[in-house]
Amino acid sequence: MKIGEITKYLEQFAPTIYQESYDNSGLLVGNKNTEITGILIGLDCLESTIEEAKQKNCNLIITHHPIIFKGLKRLNGNHYTERVVINAIKNDIALYAIHTNLDNVKNGVNFKIAEKLGLKNIQILAPKTQNLMKLTVFIPVGNAELLRNALGNAGAGQIGEYKNCSFETEGIGRFEPTEIANPHIGQANELANIEESRIEVIFPIHLQNDILQTMKNNHPYEEIAYYLHLLENKNQEIGSGAIAELKQEMSEKDFLIHLSKTMHAKGIKHTKLVGKNIKKVAICGGTGSFLLGNAVSQKADIFVSADFKYHEFFEADNKILIADIGHYESEQFTSDLLKDYLSTQKEIDFPIYLTTENTNPVEYFFE
Ligand SMILES: [Zn+2]
Repeated sequence: MKIGEITKYLEQFAPTIYQESYDNSGLLVGNKNTEITGILIGLDCLESTIEEAKQKNCNLIITHHPIIFKGLKRLNGNHYTERVVINAIKNDIALYAIHTNLDNVKNGVNFKIAEKLGLKNIQILAPKTQNLMKLTVFIPVGNAELLRNALGNAGAGQIGEYKNCSFETEGIGRFEPTEIANPHIGQANELANIEESRIEVIFPIHLQNDILQTMKNNHPYEEIAYYLHLLENKNQEIGSGAIAELKQEMSEKDFLIHLSKTMHAKGIKHTKLVGKNIKKVAICGGTGSFLLGNAVSQKADIFVSADFKYHEFFEADNKILIADIGHYESEQFTSDLLKDYLSTQKEIDFPIYLTTENTNPVEYFFE
């Protein structure tokens, strides 16, 4: 199996189009046509990770964090990022990152944390806009049903738990073919009046190419009249963080103990206890302070995240309990998530390993 086949499979789950603008997810080093000998999965890619991949005969390393993040201007080995890239190239090891696109999808990084904490009713905390499209297409009435079904099968018309959603009106379409046109209906230089259906469907933006191809394959006209709209609607399937509920509410202290144990936290930095039970839990793996406002407005009792700065803790303002469990700790189960997902790909004929190394750069000192 080739690298491109695996990355395509990963991107069905977390399309790269949903990564944040500052991010650099995707295939960073290597060629998509290379045959895979083995995959090593981890949170970070360090020189030691390349070494581990070599020892395990893996020529593809998949990590959550992209080793090339801000761009590289030279490769002379003065910085650890350069050394990782140099070693990867020298050893024919491909590097692939699946970062904020995996944060931003349903069942991604944050859903995994919620699942680990035993939460229910897991939703996206801050759904994003501008990732849903609307297709409007005009087609002879007799061909409409076929096209509607084909678009539905290609993934258009899904709204929450409803599929094959579409809207259709009928009217008259007019066109006049030129002499060199090859019309399905009508004659050259004669105005045709055709009973047409106007079909409208929505679809997530990552499916755009597939949807347009499906439309072309299932439409009789040489020139198809259609248009696309980018929608401002919030997409409940794509966005930052997660919000969920405990099956049974517990005291703040009990929840902190549960959190600490489940996430193997060496210590939790938290704000003053609010004095009420925890039921609703907001989550953001990694740096999450930008979502505090969303957590408060959705009435979460606690916000579990990482990388809070001193002044950001004040923003809790007795409305919510902030629990900073550490960046690595919050995202540690991402590797399991990736391995579990890849294991659902039936044609895999090579081993997949989780790195045995703890790449957390932060250590804790207790006297
Ligand atoms: Zn992270």
